[in-house]
Amino acid sequence: MDTDNWSTAVSALRNAKHVVVFSGAGMSAESGIPTFRDADGFWQRFPPEEFATWSGLWKTALIDPHSVADFVLNVVDPIARAEANPGHRAVASLESRTKTTVVTQNVDGLHQTSGSTDVLEVHGSLLEVIDSLTAQVVRRIDRSQLAQIAEALRKYAGRQGSTDSLLAELGKYYPLDWLGRLRPNLVLFGDAMAEPAWTKACEVVDRCDLFISVGTSGEVYPAAMLPDQAAEAGATVITVDPQPSGDCPLPGKAGIVLPKLIHDAFAAVAD
Ligand code: NAD
Repeated sequence: MDTDNWSTAVSALRNAKHVVVFSGAGMSAESGIPTFRDADGFWQRFPPEEFATWSGLWKTALIDPHSVADFVLNVVDPIARAEANPGHRAVASLESRTKTTVVTQNVDGLHQTSGSTDVLEVHGSLLEVIDSLTAQVVRRIDRSQLAQIAEALRKYAGRQGSTDSLLAELGKYYPLDWLGRLRPNLVLFGDAMAEPAWTKACEVVDRCDLFISVGTSGEVYPAAMLPDQAAEAGATVITVDPQPSGDCPLPGKAGIVLPKLIHDAFAAVAD
């Protein structure tokens, strides 16, 4: 760890009036939720042109529904089982020290599980059902319900369950015309960002004085422009990631670096 960067980060956190924590998939890696671009090659197994858009998913489902079930299972199952990790808890603990807004690209709800109260989910949430015509969230589902969905998907992907029984299970959460209107609140490639979260995120990024980017490769736009936007607005930008970039990189895992950073800034154990 570069000691100058560490000192800069500690001092910026100690003096911050409004912190934005900007999280990506790496934030939840230690909760057992795989990232998409790390070595396990998620996008090699499920090519984005077939699986990363709603239209691609529907088309692929007509040709090979079992592969779509397998894809959705690989997204849903780890999130159904996940618990918050020390990185999430460190972020939540910041709220007692300074005004903190979490802007997350994650759809796993783990920031809220760990106690963060000001969370903007700019790519939506797997724990919400949205009416795609009105863009309104119509209901929330919990992790035990997600686990039941995962179980039905597992059977179907393993060719042990019928299409009817899978649709009956999904219909409990996405009733009537699941294929068209009620669907998980997920922003896929090419979709508009989740609102009002995205508009609010852009506003808080302009107002914050410290921006902590955690576990994001910076390849998914427009979210990836937020660190530059924060820097241009005058915030200190620090990056926590095993492979960090930017002016103040802090290499390492979120679950280790964030509790230590908060400890060193406030001389209190954060986790
Ligand atoms: P990404 O997969 O492109 O990049 C992950 C980043 O996390 C990499 O830079 C990697 O070095 C870093 N990382 C890996 N382990 C880490 C750890 N323990 N601590 C800190 N960093 C770690 O992720 P992205 O930039 O977020 O973009 C992918 C898109 O898919 C986003 O919208 C993302 O939120 C979504 N996604 C969400 C989840 C989730 O909700 N948990 C999981 C996978 C993908």
